[in-house]
Amino acid sequence: MAKRIAVVVSQGQSASPAKRQLEEDIISALLFEQGLDLVIIPHLYDLKPDGTGMLALNGIMGNMIVLSWLYERGARWTLDRFGIRGKEGLTLIKSEDDEEEDEDAEEASANGDNKERVIDTQDLPNRRIYCLDLRIHDKAQIYIDEVKRIARENALPLVGLSGLGMSGLASPEQAARFVTPTNNTALPMMGEHTSAPGSIVAETKSFAEPLRIAEDGTRRWYPVIDYSRCTNCMECIDFCLFGVYGVDKVETILVEQPDNCRKGCPACSRVCPENAIIFPQHKTPTIAGADVVAGSLKIDLSLLFGAPETGETAEQAAVRERDEQLLLAGRQAVGTAVGLPKRQEHKSGEAKDELDSLIDALDELDV
Ligand code: SF4
Ligand code: SF4
Repeated sequence: MAKRIAVVVSQGQSASPAKRQLEEDIISALLFEQGLDLVIIPHLYDLKPDGTGMLALNGIMGNMIVLSWLYERGARWTLDRFGIRGKEGLTLIKSEDDEEEDEDAEEASANGDNKERVIDTQDLPNRRIYCLDLRIHDKAQIYIDEVKRIARENALPLVGLSGLGMSGLASPEQAARFVTPTNNTALPMMGEHTSAPGSIVAETKSFAEPLRIAEDGTRRWYPVIDYSRCTNCMECIDFCLFGVYGVDKVETILVEQPDNCRKGCPACSRVCPENAIIFPQHKTPTIAGADVVAGSLKIDLSLLFGAPETGETAEQAAVRERDEQLLLAGRQAVGTAVGLPKRQEHKSGEAKDELDSLIDALDELDV
């Protein structure tokens, strides 16, 4: 029997009829595809750690395809945060920006960035997770075709192409039939319907009724860490004064108290030197997980992570946002006094910003 694959559709937060329509068009077309287990969840980012949505996702052991209204990175590292891990499945659905970034990534890697990333120290389960961004296209067919392509790819490794040959399934037509069987002798899988007991002919309608999960629609706000970029430098834990970050047993950074994060505050994502902190719901694409390459020569990341509307650099915006949140919480603003010196040390040979130069001058005067 061909290997099944779970297809998770994460619904948008808004009630936008166009979004609902796209989701439903995809779901209804996939109902009739063999080998798929459909799961429909509320917005992935808003799921509660102990809710039924997360329970269902954690119950999926094999490969999965996740369609969501999030950047690919945002979806992948949100899943990771909840322990839903696997190797990155590659999708052919890319935004134009992503294609440019792939070239930048190759360039950055050719430029020899050999830093150790947290992901290099992790054992990932031997399965693939494919994240498809529903915001790239408004045509359901593109997603339906991609899901079918991945499902075919998913089915092949179970037997392997050489295995097909050894089983005597030599021709492409035979292989295709093996991947998408046409017989109806198998026992019904999840959601398959048979006719009433007593029928002379057991008619099987091979469509998989999706598992629909509902949770209350409370919106959440917390950072997720992209461990393929994170170098465990601990700058985020030094910078955040709200106790969001912590470390695990082997001293690896993690988001320990996500709900301590101040709603709307993206400050630490602006100061992470590897651009590894994602706020999937932020309006700025780079902060929400758009695929920029840390260290890219073509892009001024300080501008991308800054606040163009106020003309601030990333660091200036981060300090202001953190101070605003401290004041809102009834605490004192700290400006650049906390969590930033380490960053300035890294800038050896670079001009310090004006405020740092002023502080240095005052230190020298010993006032
Ligand atoms: S600042 Fe960024 S790279 Fe450093 S530990 Fe935090 S997430 Fe990782
Ligand atoms: S966004 Fe602000 S409150 Fe949230 S983790 Fe980062 S610094 Fe802390």
